[in-house]
Amino acid sequence: MIEIKENFSLKKYNTFGFDINCRYFASFSNEEELKELLLIHKNKNIPLMVIGGGSNILFTKNFNGLIIQPTICGIEIINETDDSVDLRVGAGENWDSFVEYCVNRNWGGVENLSLIPGFVGTCPIQNIGAYGVEVKDVILKVETIDIESLRKQEFANTECRFGYRESIFKHDLKGKQVITYVHFKFNKNHEYKLNYGNLNEELQKYESINLKNIRNAVIDIRNSKLPKPEETGNAGSFFKNPEVKEAVFEKIRQQYQDVPNFKQSNNNVKIPAGWLIEQAGWKGKNIGNAAVHNKQALVLINRGNATGAEVLYLAREIQKSVNNQFGIELEMEVNVV
Ligand SMILES: Cc1cc2nc3c(=O)[nH]c(=O)nc-3n(C[C@H](O)[C@H](O)[C@H](O)COP(=O)(O)OP(=O)(O)OC[C@H]3O[C@@H](n4cnc5c(N)ncnc54)[C@H](O)[C@@H]3O)c2cc1C
Repeated sequence: MIEIKENFSLKKYNTFGFDINCRYFASFSNEEELKELLLIHKNKNIPLMVIGGGSNILFTKNFNGLIIQPTICGIEIINETDDSVDLRVGAGENWDSFVEYCVNRNWGGVENLSLIPGFVGTCPIQNIGAYGVEVKDVILKVETIDIESLRKQEFANTECRFGYRESIFKHDLKGKQVITYVHFKFNKNHEYKLNYGNLNEELQKYESINLKNIRNAVIDIRNSKLPKPEETGNAGSFFKNPEVKEAVFEKIRQQYQDVPNFKQSNNNVKIPAGWLIEQAGWKGKNIGNAAVHNKQALVLINRGNATGAEVLYLAREIQKSVNNQFGIELEMEVNVV
């Protein structure tokens, strides 16, 4: 039985902690309830939005429509062999609890993605990534319901058009599909990926290298660097790391010899957005209640009573500064609503 709540507070449903409301709010625990809600949305002719953990959204004002949240649970083994296991996981499962579940069973592939907030149903949308791993490498397919036709659809991994913090669900299919289940394949003879950031160094503190220790090392690094949303409102990395042509990079390097960089397979060069923001003088700075975190310049924070509009204003000022100084257009990773 679905319950539609009116004038619902989203304060606990967005990790920035903005005190805003939506006109209607409902959760759905299966596909039938979702279809019912989609019909109600059609009849009321109001805007619709799906929310997971609200950890990648910047609400700039109240949402005058219906927000729906999946509570579809369950981790089902679809196929298991000596070498691998295929799973079908409900969109409402908590991402990090799912990572822990896999690590406890010694199924490798997502241990580097420990402690990323949000729901399993959202992980394909921006192809979540951390410590040299992207979730696309373990996704088999994604199940959805089409918002217009209410038809069930499936998108195989290649059809999801995954890229760096990208997928078809952020572009052609934005606002058109609700993700209900994600299918994963885990290799039981998994190769660890430890060559990113200080993960290897952190692992020296452990007696052996195994999935549990990698997960714990990732958790420790993240806890030491990133503000906890329960204490300081934020949505993780606010901007994507820009990729520039080699010539553009060389021009920057002439002036800044220590510019950190990651060469890409297409010969472009990725530059950490946090470094650019820091060079532009924004680290630890604030405009009103919106601020740039003092340990990680890529993270914008709510110092207490900030509004989404204030954070957006700060973000745009940062974009202008970085553009003036480096000629690079920073793209927002967070979904602005
Ligand atoms: C402290 C912190 C650290 C973070 N670290 C990382 C990191 O290391 N790597 C990384 O990639 N991300 C990171 N993030 C960003 C975020 O956690 C991920 O993008 C996560 O996948 C968002 O999940 P969510 O359920 O909270 O999504 P939400 O914020 O609720 O939604 C994000 C977008 O997806 C849409 N959406 C949500 N669910 C569905 C659905 N079922 N069907 C269709 N559309 C849907 C929403 O409408 C919205 O546009 C971090 C965030 C925080 C706060």
